[in-house]
Amino acid sequence: MTGNRTFTMIKPDAVENGHIGAILEKITAAGFKIVAMKYTQLSVRDAQGFYAVHSERPFFGELVEFMTRGPIVAAILEKDNAVEDFRALIGATNPAEAAEGTIRKLFATSIGENAVHGSDSDENAAIEGAFHFAGREVF
Ligand code: GDP
Repeated sequence: MTGNRTFTMIKPDAVENGHIGAILEKITAAGFKIVAMKYTQLSVRDAQGFYAVHSERPFFGELVEFMTRGPIVAAILEKDNAVEDFRALIGATNPAEAAEGTIRKLFATSIGENAVHGSDSDENAAIEGAFHFAGREVF
């Protein structure tokens, strides 16, 4: 994966609340091309592995429970400056602090249940994309 790709998940809260279509619309309207996508559900082991960097944080158990409680949409997105531009599109981790018009401002309900994931570096985008997709699933 090159530096013009990022990885996202539409999290269980946004799926439950019927926001898949609206979120994908915001993503494509912002100029991101979907180069891989699947509807799937994380196992506890998947979520613990994906969020291993947070394993010592007090909210880790809550995060794993949340991320495994229902299906998600996982996708790899392509655009110039993808990681930074996508973080701007989704907004701050806490929707109360997210800028107007951002995906989290529009669709998230709390700091934990915040609708979408976006990779925080090119390196993590590559790791996270490979976590979810085989090479033949990426276009
Ligand atoms: P992100 O990069 O904006 O997603 O934020 P972080 O990497 O700091 O945290 C990863 C994810 O953990 C967030 O998107 C939230 O779903 C969750 N999270 C972060 N902080 C908290 C918190 O204080 N409480 C709970 N329950 N979840 C949190």
